[in-house]
Amino acid sequence: MGFEDKRVVIVGGGLGGMAFLNAALYAGLKNVQLYEQAAKFGEVGAGVNITSNANRILDAFGLQESMTRKSSGKLPCYMEYHNYKTGGYIGHIGEFSQPHARLLHRAHLLDSLKERVPESSLKLGKHLASIDRNTATGAAPYTLHFQDGSTAEADIVIGCDGIKSNVRREMGLGDDPNYSGQVVYRGFVDYKDLPTETAALLRKTVNFRGPKRHLLILPIGNQETGTDRAAVIGFMSEPLEAWDSESWMSRSDIDSLQEHVRDWCPEVQHIIAGLRKGSGDGKMLKQALYVRDPIDKWYEIKSEQKDAGIILLGDSAHSTLPHQGQGTCMAIESGIALATVLRHWKTDDLEAAFKFYQDLRKPRTDRVTRTSYEAGKLASSDSPSQMSDNFNPDALRERMRWIMEYNVLEDLKTKGQGYLDFQGSRL
Ligand SMILES: Cc1cc2nc3c(=O)[nH]c(=O)nc-3n(C[C@H](O)[C@H](O)[C@H](O)COP(=O)(O)OP(=O)(O)OC[C@H]3O[C@@H](n4cnc5c(N)ncnc54)[C@H](O)[C@@H]3O)c2cc1C
Repeated sequence: MGFEDKRVVIVGGGLGGMAFLNAALYAGLKNVQLYEQAAKFGEVGAGVNITSNANRILDAFGLQESMTRKSSGKLPCYMEYHNYKTGGYIGHIGEFSQPHARLLHRAHLLDSLKERVPESSLKLGKHLASIDRNTATGAAPYTLHFQDGSTAEADIVIGCDGIKSNVRREMGLGDDPNYSGQVVYRGFVDYKDLPTETAALLRKTVNFRGPKRHLLILPIGNQETGTDRAAVIGFMSEPLEAWDSESWMSRSDIDSLQEHVRDWCPEVQHIIAGLRKGSGDGKMLKQALYVRDPIDKWYEIKSEQKDAGIILLGDSAHSTLPHQGQGTCMAIESGIALATVLRHWKTDDLEAAFKFYQDLRKPRTDRVTRTSYEAGKLASSDSPSQMSDNFNPDALRERMRWIMEYNVLEDLKTKGQGYLDFQGSRL
């Protein structure tokens, strides 16, 4: 049974939507189309850390080689902590189980996710404006209206349109995202623009831990393919009144980040100088960090029709602060779970399938949202006395182990017994 022949429409072609499309193809859903508002695929100019729990799934899709080509190679540890003022080593977190974290440019991850997807399933320049729930006999359950006047018909709609999701709004969920009190400054430094010793240090994932702020460096890419750069993510506390962009994202003067770290160690000053060398206009990306509280229900079922509905996936459903590097990873996990459930569900009862999927995913994503908030507090320090004395990297590692060592494919196999028909499944 299942829903393999249904018209599935994905709204949003970010990392979450593209991961779901890969999962749908992998699972064997036959009729899937993705609609993205941008005229061409692109991601914000920043790095991303894809951890073992998500790499397990991408490897199952066959993307390991493609990702590895553009990712950092084997790193000495998961993260190393340094004192903001002295630059001195505080401690580190060892790697988690295989496959280890891969750090790469977001655009390169998107390229990998595009590799196995037929062009014909991607529709660009399609901003979803509204969704009609049709009642006429013979009509498709849903008609999606795009800003350019075009439409699409669907039995199942997957809202992968991010934290400001229109699909979510169309479902009648009117809650507002919450400002976290933090902004992030994001940019890249070329290793050649750093003094040799600082460049060598930043070939590791390094967190300069300061009071109520921290500067995280992700060594993305690799030297063989010339994709290696130090991705800089400065998490700083700033009141929202100072914020002047409605889009939560803007270009900011590098001076503004420098102001936050003026009295920090020489290595951090090298990073600021490196950012300036690499930036033509003296600016870098600045983003206000928002998150939504978990919601009770991620889906709706079309009234009087048990095999049509709308569901949210990725940041539209389970946004999280980035302090455990899990937003994209959770979307990747959710993608394979939802696609597998839709393809292999034993009956034609979509509500039961959606509920099973949500019950499988929500406890985990809610916990990630909660612990990421706490991890943000631990990544910085609230007072100078917490700088090294009370800081225990081993405890941090233990806090995150349950995230990294989880295998959603195994969980589906176990919990799906009796609900999913595994015949022909690639699980
Ligand atoms: C500073 C920072 C660092 C992070 N680092 C990591 C990390 O290391 N690892 C990790 O796993 N996660 C990380 N994340 C989280 C991650 O970026 C997000 O969780 C992830 O990108 C969410 O993907 P998404 O596809 O759900 O949403 P989005 O990335 O927001 O994509 C939504 C897509 O939908 C499209 N869209 C929106 N509205 C419409 C519409 N009306 N019609 C059509 N299309 C539409 C958009 O154009 C976009 O392409 C980080 C986040 C931040 C802020």
